[in-house]
Amino acid sequence: MWPSEKRTRDTAAVLKLDAETICPICLERYPVGTIVKDYPYCPDCSSEGMDFDVETFSSYMARNTEADFDALLKHWDQAEGFRPEYKAAKRQRIVDLQALKAASL
Ligand SMILES: [Zn+2]
Repeated sequence: MWPSEKRTRDTAAVLKLDAETICPICLERYPVGTIVKDYPYCPDCSSEGMDFDVETFSSYMARNTEADFDALLKHWDQAEGFRPEYKAAKRQRIVDLQALKAASL
């Protein structure tokens, strides 16, 4: 009756999710601590000086539904004025998150 035996299989995945932070602007993922709450800055989208919430990847995934990711993808496909590389990279991240969300349901 030792409870820790029961959580051997899933613990790794959960810990990994909690160990990552996601940039809500470009959706790049970083180890926790890379983006600090006091002065959020994401090196990937150069969001220096922008005010955004830092949240763990697990809470981000819990908060967003498949429909949210659908809407995000549609919105992003219509967005203009971004570098083609950034546009493609972020699109791929949305698709990946969507697949991850679908797989976790
Ligand atoms: Zn970013």
